[in-house]
Amino acid sequence: MSRSGIVVVGSLNADLTIYTERLPQPGETVHGNGFAVNPGGKSANQAVAASKLGGNVTLIGAVGDDANGTMLLESTAGAGVDVSRVRRCDTATGVAVISVDARGENSIIISAGANGTLAPADVDFDAFRDAAVVCLCLEVGIDTVVAAAQAGHDAGAAVLLNLSPYAEVPELLAGLADVLLVNAHEAALFLGSEAGIPDPDAAVEAWEPVRSRFADRGLQRVLVTLGAQGSVVLDSLALGGQLTRIAPTQVSAVDTTGAGDAFTGAVAARLAAGDSLVAAASFASVAAALAATKKGTQAAYPTLEQVQAAQP
Ligand code: ADP
Repeated sequence: MSRSGIVVVGSLNADLTIYTERLPQPGETVHGNGFAVNPGGKSANQAVAASKLGGNVTLIGAVGDDANGTMLLESTAGAGVDVSRVRRCDTATGVAVISVDARGENSIIISAGANGTLAPADVDFDAFRDAAVVCLCLEVGIDTVVAAAQAGHDAGAAVLLNLSPYAEVPELLAGLADVLLVNAHEAALFLGSEAGIPDPDAAVEAWEPVRSRFADRGLQRVLVTLGAQGSVVLDSLALGGQLTRIAPTQVSAVDTTGAGDAFTGAVAARLAAGDSLVAAASFASVAAALAATKKGTQAAYPTLEQVQAAQP
């Protein structure tokens, strides 16, 4: 039997969101006009997105022995994710305290909590036996991310590394990434590019410095997401590179929070199903756009049938 599993190693957070007319200045108190507690955390979101799209997903993470931990286990398991390797501990569950103003601008503070206890020892090689894809982000300690990337690599899985939230990563980790997934901001930081990332419609030559800098960092395949402008797939970077633009899927966006996680989870699901990187990115473009048409993150993520019905 060919391997088809997806192992997601990383964070689970309770998103504590307060809606307000405008964000407070330092030292200022403002009135809010609504409050919500929702399941979140980049890895939990990516696991749920992949599972709703038909992926066979195992999540490795840590939550506290508290109400937020229970909520997160229920939401991920409810979406079909195997949570038997999410460890409960006596450190409080991670939280993201989010303020959103009337224009949709937000400010976010994350407290790692239990996520900070996730350690290389939690990366159990047994979990990777059936893995086709290992999906990683940077909301847990870098040693744990490196251990998971190494375990995935050794098991013969494709390592999908979402460089978010951005942090400098050791060369070893970049070298273990079969696919790097970054938004425009993270790409510019990773490449040290003050000029930023070219417009997706710019001539191929405009992308040449980007291609060569990614190739210099030892990367072969990179996906750059560009919000409402779609995304770009850079493949075979050491061999001169192949650039494919993925047009955005036109929707009237209501809430783009977690769109990047929906995109990442969808790419993981389609790579595990055997799609090429370009096909996976095209599919993910539809999935992430549909996620942006509803408020929230995990609850807004589409099912496989919904994406298939919306595909051009
Ligand atoms: P992040 O959320 O990590 O900053 P992006 O903003 O680049 O990531 O969004 C990820 C992907 O989600 C995009 O490549 C695109 O496919 C989709 N997306 C985001 N915003 C929109 C939008 N307004 N309309 C359609 N698709 C969107």
